[in-house]
Amino acid sequence: MRSQLIQFSELRRGAAREAGRIKRRALVAGGAGFLGSHLCQRLVADGYDVVCMDNLDTGRLENLSALVGNASFQFVQHDVVHALPPLGRFDEIYNLACPASPPHYQRDPIHTMKTSVLGALNLLDKAVDSGARIFQASTSEVYGDPSVHPQPESYLGNVNTIGPRACYDEGKRSAETLFFDYSRSYGVDIRVGRIFNTYGPRMQPDDGRVVSNFIVQALRGEDITIYGDGSQTRSFCYVDDLIEFFIRLMRSNLVGPVNIGNPVEFTVRELAEIVIELTGSSSKLIFQPLPADDPKQRRPDISLARRELDWTPAVDLRAGLGRTIEYFDGLMRSPDNYSIPASASLAS
Ligand code: NAD
Ligand code: UDP
Repeated sequence: MRSQLIQFSELRRGAAREAGRIKRRALVAGGAGFLGSHLCQRLVADGYDVVCMDNLDTGRLENLSALVGNASFQFVQHDVVHALPPLGRFDEIYNLACPASPPHYQRDPIHTMKTSVLGALNLLDKAVDSGARIFQASTSEVYGDPSVHPQPESYLGNVNTIGPRACYDEGKRSAETLFFDYSRSYGVDIRVGRIFNTYGPRMQPDDGRVVSNFIVQALRGEDITIYGDGSQTRSFCYVDDLIEFFIRLMRSNLVGPVNIGNPVEFTVRELAEIVIELTGSSSKLIFQPLPADDPKQRRPDISLARRELDWTPAVDLRAGLGRTIEYFDGLMRSPDNYSIPASASLAS
């Protein structure tokens, strides 16, 4: 009887939603971070009621300032390692909760692993209860230091299970496993995107990732810290392109895993030179030791996303860096609004 009642109320909810009377509800775990805050804004703009859940470990409430006071938006401070508070049902759940920058995820590696594994379990259980579609923000790090280049989704990876990056890489690999096991065991409607290096406004100045470090150093006229000889490669995707991918994936029938990134590859040294040129900085390049297990090359094969989602990145590196430099320049000119710590470093 109870399940019939639930089914009936679900049918009514579905019909009301079709008629546009009930807004879709989304839970964004990690929504106060760089990517999550852009996603919350996009979902609210698309007409969703959004609950952002974050422990504010690497995220900031300032990232959500455009949403404060919006009746369609709610912030809940919570660590996904622990059982979720009762928040009602959701149509969509996005799991972005996890520090993403190497200095941040290596600060407390055990908590990073717990965040990936226990966080995925708690959010997947919520998806079961809600009948929600659930997205996992996976990563190119599941490929480790790849021996296949560029990396297609079929490549199984080359991860050092005991190195300093393993808490993140293996945590994310385990989360993917849990997503597919929940799909097979309970029929959960999953989507998995493997995100390659993404940058843009709202990265933290002390984030420690290469784009934010180089821009902050260049704007301050400090030395640009290249780890190793700068010949290692990355492919950088602008945040707006990534958010468009999230939306397309969640509205498609493609389960994944699917690579998401900009396939144009640069060496780290080339990136430093472009940042110096765009900022007009007098900064000099200095070379520091390469951190352990730092991948030598990385470039996504995005044929699957192009074919199935008609997705292709629209913002090239110079245009995206220009917007990101403008953002950091604005932050640094208004220190009253935002205290700027020194950029984080792994190698010094
Ligand atoms: P970020 O550090 O800016 O955001 C992560 C957010 O998760 C922060 O707001 C943080 O406070 C929150 N968080 C961390 N641990 C939590 C916990 N235990 N409970 C609740 N909240 C927690 O990083 P980002 O670049 O926005 O990355 C978002 C997601 O995308 C992460 O899962 C990351 O692994 C994934 N990803 C990002 C990139 C990238 O280049 N930006 C690449 C690959 C994967
Ligand atoms: N890197 C660098 N200087 C910095 C920060 C990073 O040379 O100040 C290098 C880092 O060693 C890596 C690349 O830039 O080879 C990308 O680093 P990031 O931390 O942004 O991302 P990931 O290594 O996770 O791809």
